[in-house]
Amino acid sequence: PPYPIKMKGKVIQGFGRGSRELGIPTANLSEAATNALCEDVETGIYFGWALVGNDSSVYPMVMSLGWNPYYKNEKKSAEVHIMHVFSEDFYEAELRVIVLGRIRSERDYVSIDALIEDINIDIKVAHNSLARSSYISFKSDPFFLNDN
Ligand code: ADP
Ligand code: MG
Repeated sequence: PPYPIKMKGKVIQGFGRGSRELGIPTANLSEAATNALCEDVETGIYFGWALVGNDSSVYPMVMSLGWNPYYKNEKKSAEVHIMHVFSEDFYEAELRVIVLGRIRSERDYVSIDALIEDINIDIKVAHNSLARSSYISFKSDPFFLNDN
């Protein structure tokens, strides 16, 4: 199994599909970081830990790795929702992520409500999984130490 997958990349401007309006902003990773990730894992929804820039706190995250409609589905995008309320945006910041597992495949949705419902379940699944001691330990992984 490929886990844990440790990766870092720059947060770029996304498609602006309104994830923020849904209450679930997703930090989009640079193309280079996305491509590197795609060598290890298939599309789908993942969970793990995330650190923004040189912040001191590591937070739980859910990540979607999927096809980007903006590029007519020719390119993949990696988008990370961090389960924390930030006081400011962090475009251009370096985002470090440790991916620990896969939750499910991508799905098509008939309604926004169905999408939001699924994301809220993903967030619960991530929280439950990350509560295991073997996963908690990755919160203090040296990868998250500054200047790593
Ligand atoms: P975009 O289409 O540009 O990705 P989003 O609506 O998905 O726009 O919002 C993502 C941006 O919101 C991130 O790049 C980041 O700067 C900011 N942001 C604020 N809080 C969070 C959070 N908890 N998780 C992810 N991104 C967040
Ligand atoms: Mg986004």
